[in-house]
Amino acid sequence: MTYTRDNSTALWQRARAVMPLGTNSNFRFWGEGETIVAARSKGGYIWDVDGNRYIDYRLGFGPVILGHAFDAVDAKVREVSQNGIMYSLTTPIEISLAERLVAMCPALEMVRLANSGAEATMHALRVARAYTGREKIIKFEGQYHGMYDYMLFSTYAPVETYGNRRNPIPVPSSSGIPKAIHNLIITLPFNDFEVLEATLRRAWHDVAAIIIEPILGNCASVEPLPGWLEFVRSKCHEYGIVLIFDEVKTGFRLARGGAQEVYGVIPDMATYAKSMGNGYPIAAFGGRRDIMEIVGKGVAHGGTYTGNMVGVAAAEATLELMQTQPILETVAARGKRLMDGLKQIFDEAGVPVVMSGHPAMFSFSVGVDKITNQRDWARSDRDYYLRLMAAAYERGVMPDYDPREPWFMCYSHSDADIDETLNVMRDVVRAVPWRKP
Ligand code: PMP
Repeated sequence: MTYTRDNSTALWQRARAVMPLGTNSNFRFWGEGETIVAARSKGGYIWDVDGNRYIDYRLGFGPVILGHAFDAVDAKVREVSQNGIMYSLTTPIEISLAERLVAMCPALEMVRLANSGAEATMHALRVARAYTGREKIIKFEGQYHGMYDYMLFSTYAPVETYGNRRNPIPVPSSSGIPKAIHNLIITLPFNDFEVLEATLRRAWHDVAAIIIEPILGNCASVEPLPGWLEFVRSKCHEYGIVLIFDEVKTGFRLARGGAQEVYGVIPDMATYAKSMGNGYPIAAFGGRRDIMEIVGKGVAHGGTYTGNMVGVAAAEATLELMQTQPILETVAARGKRLMDGLKQIFDEAGVPVVMSGHPAMFSFSVGVDKITNQRDWARSDRDYYLRLMAAAYERGVMPDYDPREPWFMCYSHSDADIDETLNVMRDVVRAVPWRKP
């Protein structure tokens, strides 16, 4: 079947009359005539409204860890929701979920639920500020923690605007962010021991929290250098700063206990969403008992939909499967095959790439020999990546077109899907030759 986007384009024309960019998230706009409209999904596949089938490696930016429309999760949601979904009272299943989260995640002694990653990180920041009595937050360039003003700095600006690495400029990612908020954020390069040390020596007494994605899940899955997470951990101890691991992407994906289990570094607080509910809206933040116990004692948290039964049921089913079956081991094994296969294809074609990340969420960067932070990554050949992705879509393979977004794996991706993807990518790399820019 030939690949067309006629139906997608016609629907997008309708959409753009009533929704800015014709989408409900700026990230979903791929350009006029390029923006795909989805029809349905199952397992590791998505079909668009033109009938094209894609092996899906976006997985909704990561949440779909088991697979789309996963029967066991959907059945649990149906069963629970038959009795109603909105009580604004605590329910037994909610308690069971909280116990499960505490059992699975090393950092969690107590936990509260939320509905999105943004909400979870936002509340964690408030708790950290209240606990320490300080106001500033350190985040790292290229990391993303949600669509709210405090954190929308140095996420995806051109790195030339970030200034010198020793004294980075926090660059807002949007108009409309109040100037006063600029004073509450410090942005630093990831994996830069020296600059973190110097910054803390100067500014520690204002810093409430360091929030960090243990892997740069929003910038090509760049991994922590050996000792980096341990270093951040020890500095937070030294200066009384709350260390928050944002495990919205890594949680319930890299391992049952997330990146903190993989790297053996335990933060004071952690935030989760995405894979926690296989795509249903559910999130959590939690941490040390003495920190979390201030919630409700002069520290606000709540929300009409927190503990919503749809999300809670989905999380219960998803996490129970994860605890009792080798789900994440399978995901990692298939991811490793795909990562190794892609590397071999690029090597054979003479395309210099650096593979990065974990097999469950990995990426590759072209034309560079190492990437340790967003500044390095920005030197990679991003135009080539875009051209590769355009060719992959036409052949039924769909990672995100944005080279910052990792390739996400799910339990429903079969070995046959990996084989098909590698065949497609071999063809793609042949069809889109790389030339040194
Ligand atoms: N933190 C991280 C690490 C994320 O990747 C994201 C979303 N990509 C968020 C927070 C925000 O999550 P949400 O989109 O559910 O608000």
